[in-house]
Amino acid sequence: TVRTRFAPSPTGLLHIGNARAALFNYLFARHHKGEFLLRIEDTDRERSTQKAVDVILDGLDWLGLTPDAAPVYQSARQQRHTEVAQELLAQGLAYKCFCTADELKIMREQAVAQGLPPRYNGFWRDRDPSEAPSGAPFSVRLKAPKEGETVIEDLVQGAVRVANTEMDDLIILRSDGSPTYLHAVVCDDHDMEITHVMRGDDHLTNTFRQAMIYRAMGWALPQFAHLPLIHGPDGAKLSKRHGAQSVVDFREAGYLPEALCNYLLRLGWGHGDAEILSRDEQIALFDLDGVGRAPSRMDYTKLAHLNGVYLREADPARLTEDVVARLADRSDVVTDDLFRERVLKLMPGLQARAKLLTDLAESAAFLGKKPPLTFDAKAEKLLDAPTQAVLRRIADKLAQLSPFDAPSIDAALRAFADEAGLKLGQVAQPLRAAMTGTLVSPGIDATLAALGRDDVLARIGAATG
Ligand code: GLU
Repeated sequence: TVRTRFAPSPTGLLHIGNARAALFNYLFARHHKGEFLLRIEDTDRERSTQKAVDVILDGLDWLGLTPDAAPVYQSARQQRHTEVAQELLAQGLAYKCFCTADELKIMREQAVAQGLPPRYNGFWRDRDPSEAPSGAPFSVRLKAPKEGETVIEDLVQGAVRVANTEMDDLIILRSDGSPTYLHAVVCDDHDMEITHVMRGDDHLTNTFRQAMIYRAMGWALPQFAHLPLIHGPDGAKLSKRHGAQSVVDFREAGYLPEALCNYLLRLGWGHGDAEILSRDEQIALFDLDGVGRAPSRMDYTKLAHLNGVYLREADPARLTEDVVARLADRSDVVTDDLFRERVLKLMPGLQARAKLLTDLAESAAFLGKKPPLTFDAKAEKLLDAPTQAVLRRIADKLAQLSPFDAPSIDAALRAFADEAGLKLGQVAQPLRAAMTGTLVSPGIDATLAALGRDDVLARIGAATG
């Protein structure tokens, strides 16, 4: 059975590129009715924090990419990593290297002087450890093949190869006894019975070295799929200056997780022209054939558009909770039960026009404000003396209206416009200004109905006082 894993290092954010790797691993596992696992690569004890682990767990949860088992912590498996290194040592497939930092530095310089990449020259590979001073610290290095080439049949990149002369004998245990990252990953992927390793193509060079460890241990290699990285709209590596780049950033900026996942999937994976795909469709259709090799360019405009599409389809109750949470700290908005009720009532109108949850919250804020409102320049300009007079006449009508619901409000406003010889907009816009302080809102009938008669009259009073 297929087993994939997401293996983030908990040293900071959950980057959008990593989130996409998680999504691909998740979809691939689901597509093949396999398992999706999570491994926290926390061997760098100084840089790994519990807070960063929580960011990863929360982020995956938010994206709906929950792993099928409790996370494996790499740091808890150190003994096993050491055991494997000892086995390689015992079999003569690895050896102790007693070189000091200074000696290694000289070796690297010599290699560079010869036009080679900086590297270890294999000094202790065939030497007897008894030649080393007793008690001298040592690292453990894998005996890398010196001839031939290492070929990886990558499911995305195709056959990728490197001449073995390009690679030196990699360290698997450091002189303090700790396993190196490359070694730990191989032991863990093997023990977790991972069948497919999907990760960013920045790991491709690591894969050649990891392949050597697999071969030395006589373990079958998993299949690899190295995914192109996500670049900014200008083609440069995605960075802060491009905009949001971590999952938390996107969440705060007002994106829905399903819109973000849909976008990340379509970025670098295609299935005909289909743009909007439900999670079930994604699972049914996902395969690695559809993954391109070129880096993808993040298009924030397209993402926002897609988010708007998802927003229009989203459950009003869920959106209402999001709006309340986003406005909870605002001193000018009262987010009580009455507010929640009003937002829910007006949500169909609000969600039809927003792209981001932040816009949605902003457009709903007026429902929790207390008159007198502050008016923006356009509203201020519109609310001149003649318009105020019109508003007072409308207030008289609305005061007597029963029931105070959207259809009867609509009928009353139309009748008033007819009677007064005004266009409907000349009635609706002053009302909008009085209700929201701006000239934008959902349909005026629904807006007034959501506020309720008392508040509508209070707002007209405040705007015409
Ligand atoms: N821990 C690595 C990272 O966060 C991923 C390694 C892997 O997927 O093999 O970049």
